[in-house]
Amino acid sequence: MVAYTKIFKVDPVRPDVEVIRYAARVIREGGLVAFPTETVYGLGANAFDARAVERIYVVKGRPPDNPIIVHICDVRQLELVASRVPEDAYKLIERLWPGPLTLLLPKGPRIPYVVTAGLETVAVRMPAHPVALELIREAGVPIAAPSANLSGKPSPTRGEHVVEDLYSKVEVVIDAGETLYGVESTIVNLLSDPPMLLRPGAYPVEEIERILGKSIVVPGFARGLGEAERALAPGMKHRHYAPDTPLILVESNGYDEPERVVEAAKRIILDHKMKGLKVAVVAYTETYKYYEGLADRILVMGSRSNPYEIARNLFATLRAVDKLGVDVAVIEGVEERGLGLAIMNRLRKASTLKLRV
Ligand code: AMP
Ligand code: MG
Repeated sequence: MVAYTKIFKVDPVRPDVEVIRYAARVIREGGLVAFPTETVYGLGANAFDARAVERIYVVKGRPPDNPIIVHICDVRQLELVASRVPEDAYKLIERLWPGPLTLLLPKGPRIPYVVTAGLETVAVRMPAHPVALELIREAGVPIAAPSANLSGKPSPTRGEHVVEDLYSKVEVVIDAGETLYGVESTIVNLLSDPPMLLRPGAYPVEEIERILGKSIVVPGFARGLGEAERALAPGMKHRHYAPDTPLILVESNGYDEPERVVEAAKRIILDHKMKGLKVAVVAYTETYKYYEGLADRILVMGSRSNPYEIARNLFATLRAVDKLGVDVAVIEGVEERGLGLAIMNRLRKASTLKLRV
């Protein structure tokens, strides 16, 4: 599908009103607009327009059983998209919206089934990004938007990533620079009892539990382990976030002694080097030095003591791996706590081989 793509660079805090007006008109007329949120870039269409949403699946190559999150700019828009909002949802909405929290709600009649992949539930969030909020407000309709990458590729955290994947396939790309969190929203299902985490994301689940005063079940698939047996979180079973280069993830039960992980990673690198292969390693400020003179290329994602930095660099690093010209990349895991849960979910899905030491 070919489209003439207009790319606009805007200030993330004070976006050009004319650009927002133009993009909002494209949305209203059934077109596709890629726009920044505080998590990653989204590819948006009018959530009420089944044909426009259908095109999102086509241009992304998205499997048809993977539902799309609906974005609103005001709590009053909830009644346009959901038929009921549970009490617990309001507790979270009051504290965490706008922000990177997506809630599962019973679908309202105006939301077409193509948005929810045939489900009776709809996933809804209010993004905390001035460009996203202004765009939804100006369009006057809720915007259905998955991440603005080709399906299976790492999510886009910069305008360039969107252009790389979707140029000539969408009408508009609004480029407002790098996104704040770098990982997608946390998705919680409050319709189940007890509530369930469907996807770990930018808001740590521990924080959400504190606000709810309840614990949230974290199933294995939310940690990126195994396959989702049933369609609890459709889309989670598909391979995601993956660079083309084979990626070997080295994880540990604890990272208090990072030497264990480093030693295992070094052995894997050596094995591959002996076969004449070129190897990259993705490490942290605390560990990258151990690979000097061994790995052909070294990428640093940030400091182990700052998961926010790691999350922000995560997808750009996965994209960068493919530009190194190596045969394989080895990546160190992080502790699965707070934001680390979201980071490990993405790394497990991105890797071709996982090793626990
Ligand atoms: P993306 O926007 O590309 O990050 O993907 C959105 C994810 O939200 C999907 O992969 C689903 O797992 C989840 N999701 C969206 N709508 C629903 C829904 N109605 N029920 C369960 N999960 C959903
Ligand atoms: Mg996605």
